[in-house]
Amino acid sequence: MIAPTPVIDSQRAEFADAAVETRFNQHHIVRRVAQLNVSLLFCVAFYLAFAATDLTTLGTTTTAFLLLTARVMVALLAVAGCIVLRQRRDSVPTAIAVACTVEAVGMAVFMVLCWFQPDATAWNALSLDLMVVAIYINVPNRLVYATLIALASSAAFTAMVLVQQTLGTDDMVAMVLLLMLANALGYIGARRYHLAQREAFRSALALQQLADRDPLTGCFNRRVLQKGVLEAEITRARRYGTSLSVVLCDIDHFKRINDSHGHGAGDQVLADFAVLLLAMTRDAVDSVIRYGGEEFLLILPETELDGAIKLAERIRLAAADTGTQLERGRHVTVTASFGVATIGPGQMHWQGTAADLIDAADTQLYRAKEGGRNCVRGMPFRPSAVQARA
Ligand code: GH3
Ligand code: MG
Ligand code: MG
Repeated sequence: MIAPTPVIDSQRAEFADAAVETRFNQHHIVRRVAQLNVSLLFCVAFYLAFAATDLTTLGTTTTAFLLLTARVMVALLAVAGCIVLRQRRDSVPTAIAVACTVEAVGMAVFMVLCWFQPDATAWNALSLDLMVVAIYINVPNRLVYATLIALASSAAFTAMVLVQQTLGTDDMVAMVLLLMLANALGYIGARRYHLAQREAFRSALALQQLADRDPLTGCFNRRVLQKGVLEAEITRARRYGTSLSVVLCDIDHFKRINDSHGHGAGDQVLADFAVLLLAMTRDAVDSVIRYGGEEFLLILPETELDGAIKLAERIRLAAADTGTQLERGRHVTVTASFGVATIGPGQMHWQGTAADLIDAADTQLYRAKEGGRNCVRGMPFRPSAVQARA
């Protein structure tokens, strides 16, 4: 079925549907992990390089040594984050957890560093402004988490300066305004980036739909078959030793519908028949492909011959029962014929192709047409079955 356009929640700057958001994140995970690695290495360099400021402010004292130890801990944590990311490079939750942990610990240690250097408060406030912007924009993370960490650190720093009373009122006001500005600019920039990325992903999904779906029926088109959907299912069935069935169905005497009621009515009948096929098959498991004018191919993973024949029977009865309501009170019903072919768990070493399997279903469809139409024929796939019609 043609999926509705996914909605983007503009407050969270994420897709409203969690499944689409997961798909989006999974799509970007390689780039995200690469960006996160760069951010973590940057964090290592930043924390270690600025140890020089501790030494110039505090001299070679025990406090300076303890602060250096704290800096090294942050650096080691960031390196550990890189190692974890190497091991779980496909995991979005891991990337988010690493980003949040290093940011939260890094900011907590920064507060400790600032606490012991009250004379450098103005410079530290400037550093915090830059770090807040980096949290929003440079470190890949969920916007909501980045916002919470940036706001919490800004509030903690402001509280610390108030407690230490290291700035006069005028400097304090300037510092708070600059922190608010850094948070606002960071948030706006990050939100724009998150939204733009999701809009681009949404456009790519829409293009994919246009490319893969038949506009009249909403079923997949032949292009999807050419891209190898059936080959992939055959490989999966072989690997896991499961059954795979395909059903080829063809509306009976469809030409008569066009001839008697017009091409528009024929289109309507086709669309209604497709609705039935899509409704009666499993979402995101089975594939319904418009194979030809009034021919449809169903790919049914993990389905034995018996199950596939039963499904075809149910569709056959439903199609004959439902029909299509046309203009001026006219109603037409159609019947359809079905050919089923299955590769079973015992055929894991079968070397045939997707085309062979479809040919086998076509042979069964031919038998159904020969047998008077409006019926289902099927048999387990044997390589020789393809030749049986000849
Ligand atoms: P059978 O029972 O043997 O399958 O007979 P049939 O009439 O269904 O088969 P045939 O192959 O003779 O005719 C198929 C018709 O389907 C001919 C073609 O014009 C029509 N057709 C194919 N695509 C479309 C379409 O998109 N819309 C409409 N309205 N008709 C279509
Ligand atoms: Mg037909
Ligand atoms: Mg046909």
